[in-house]
Amino acid sequence: MSKKYNPYDEILTTLEQAAKKLGLKEDDYIQLKYPERELQVSVPVRMDDGSIKVFEGYRVQHSGARGPYKGGIRYHQNVDMDEIKALAVMMSLKCAVVDIPYGGGKGGVTVDATKLSNAELERLTRSFATRLFPIIGPHTDIPAPDVNTNGEVMAWFMDAYSTLSGYLTPGVVTGKPAQVGGSLGRRDATGRGIMLMTREIAKQVGLELKGARVAVQGAGNVGGTAAKFLKQAGCKVVALSDVSGGLYSDTGLDIEDIVTFLRARRGRTLAEYEGTNFERITNEELLSTEVDILIPAALENAITAETAPGIRTKIVVEAANGPTNSDGDRILEEKGVIVVPDILANAGGVIVSYFEWIQNLQYLKWDEEEINKKLENLMVKAFNDVWNTAEKAGTSLRMGAYMVAVDRIATASKLRGMA
Ligand code: GLU
Repeated sequence: MSKKYNPYDEILTTLEQAAKKLGLKEDDYIQLKYPERELQVSVPVRMDDGSIKVFEGYRVQHSGARGPYKGGIRYHQNVDMDEIKALAVMMSLKCAVVDIPYGGGKGGVTVDATKLSNAELERLTRSFATRLFPIIGPHTDIPAPDVNTNGEVMAWFMDAYSTLSGYLTPGVVTGKPAQVGGSLGRRDATGRGIMLMTREIAKQVGLELKGARVAVQGAGNVGGTAAKFLKQAGCKVVALSDVSGGLYSDTGLDIEDIVTFLRARRGRTLAEYEGTNFERITNEELLSTEVDILIPAALENAITAETAPGIRTKIVVEAANGPTNSDGDRILEEKGVIVVPDILANAGGVIVSYFEWIQNLQYLKWDEEEINKKLENLMVKAFNDVWNTAEKAGTSLRMGAYMVAVDRIATASKLRGMA
């Protein structure tokens, strides 16, 4: 029987390889192998029918070496401690690779959010925020949206925290609606970043973005927005999917119309989208569609030993966290597919979270143009850091990104005297 797949162990393996390539001693990075704090909580919720249900919730604070813990909160039926630990270490690496002054954390509740009413979702969020209250705060640990959480959820979360602390505390979470301290540009930031990183990698490998064929797996805030920006950049988005399946059009999908349809109501899926200009495909078919650029923007483990052999693309830009496991990665490398790794590619969200937090702490507001420009500057700089490191070391971009990140975290620990 094959060993149970553990995402945390997989990341540690890559992290150790990066540390070795950097010539670090184990003492320099051993702390990174252990999250600083792991909290498991019960999340009791009064349901609409009057009964009480208790869900499991988690918050992992991985590394605080470079700043407060930072990372999203996801609501999903598959959430467990191993997954949240893996996502937390990814946040430490992500914040380091784009050089923003944060450590990494992640949280989640094991719940199928699509089965909850809006009122239940709000009570769940308030209950979870109350449980996390002792360990979070604008200078300690700052959550944000992730899978199945959004601005509305962040507003409830902030309100619950503020009620407990006795004053309005917008800086405790990011990704809020603009009317309650959210930043302009935050909702689109991850998708915009995906477009920027696709543009940079295309430039490096000499691929013309105009007319390039793109497939996007995942049509949520990240996938849908990335598809929209890539189309605006001249790409032909031929395939898009969500949990219900996918759509394919050889001449390119009407992304604006599809995304507008999906966002009109929480829980809407592509299966409900009507039209004639496309054919329906499965998620497996989406992954093996012949394209120039493939964007996995759904959950972990999309590209594996099973799916990687069928993939026909030149470039993968990882919009999801951990969409490629180590088997998948090896197969893509053998096939000569270039992978822009998650910790770089999808960092746009946390970068604009950082801008939101700065605005909150200083009670000021930046305009959207300024935010988008600052986002682009940070991401292009990070791309070049990763590209140059990978070139110099003769490694993949994933290894290059891990090297940049591990080096920054280990250096911070050392300077603080922690190592
Ligand atoms: N959930 C997003 C991520 O995985 C954003 C985190 C944040 O803004 O703190 O990067």
